[in-house]
Amino acid sequence: MMDLHTHSLHSDGTCTPREIIKLAKKKEISLCAITDHDCLDGVQEAVEAGKKYDIGVLAGLEMDIEYPVEMHLLAYGFDLQHLQLREIMHRQEKLRFERNQKILDRLNSLGYPVQIHRDERGKLISKTHIAYALVQAGYVSELSEAFHHFLGPRGCAHIQLKRVTAEEYIDLIHQAGGICVLAHPGQMKKHALQAIEELVPIGLDGIEVYYSMHTAREMSMFREIAVGHNLMITAGSDFHGAHRKEAQFGEIAALAALDPLIQETEQHLLKWVQY
Ligand code: AMP
Ligand code: MN
Ligand code: MN
Ligand code: MN
Repeated sequence: MMDLHTHSLHSDGTCTPREIIKLAKKKEISLCAITDHDCLDGVQEAVEAGKKYDIGVLAGLEMDIEYPVEMHLLAYGFDLQHLQLREIMHRQEKLRFERNQKILDRLNSLGYPVQIHRDERGKLISKTHIAYALVQAGYVSELSEAFHHFLGPRGCAHIQLKRVTAEEYIDLIHQAGGICVLAHPGQMKKHALQAIEELVPIGLDGIEVYYSMHTAREMSMFREIAVGHNLMITAGSDFHGAHRKEAQFGEIAALAALDPLIQETEQHLLKWVQY
């Protein structure tokens, strides 16, 4: 069973990489990846934990892509020390820091000052942390409201973070020896098919067909598209720990495990496991 989409406290999850791998073991997952947003800080710990608990752990990453609508690409099995990858991660970290400052300034000038409380074991600040701060300050009652009124695309404190293009990202990951998978295409709604058509010629390797929040119809549609393009099929929960209760370990992995193509992917990806 595989779960190739999880977030640790190094981005906007609430568990350490080790806790995630331990949980994966409990759920009988045999291949796992921590795919923090814009951040590689949790990978090494996950790989170490993988050795300890005897689970295949792939280097993982999820990045938002410069595209007319929201697009996320997952990457697996790349060389963590790849110089250009490191440089781009560093650049994104700086851009994120500047974006966050702009959001906080905007909130402040609108009369909604907030104080970010971050688990000190991680350093990345995401909109999820800012959304929590808005809840804690009492301006909204839940996270989704914070995104609706303040941080989402139509929110009053929405600031776009400059992203890498799909071409740049896929090239980079390939140069670093890894593969690229389109995350949760169901979230792209009517734009998904067009996006896949554009991504295939520039080297997309796979589609996250099995995803916690995909409907059965979406899964069968994306599966068919993946097969048609000879793409790999993956499964991911998008586990965020306590930050996203609907995305739990286990269920999607168990469903996906019934698919022989998932077994094929797992066999194929085992050679990227970093022991
Ligand atoms: P950032 O990477 O800092 O731009 O933050 C993006 C993160 O915010 C995403 O990875 C999601 O986890 C979270 N997010 C975005 N939109 C929403 C939403 N409408 N409700 C809850 N979480 C969201
Ligand atoms: Mn997230
Ligand atoms: Mn995503
Ligand atoms: Mn994710």
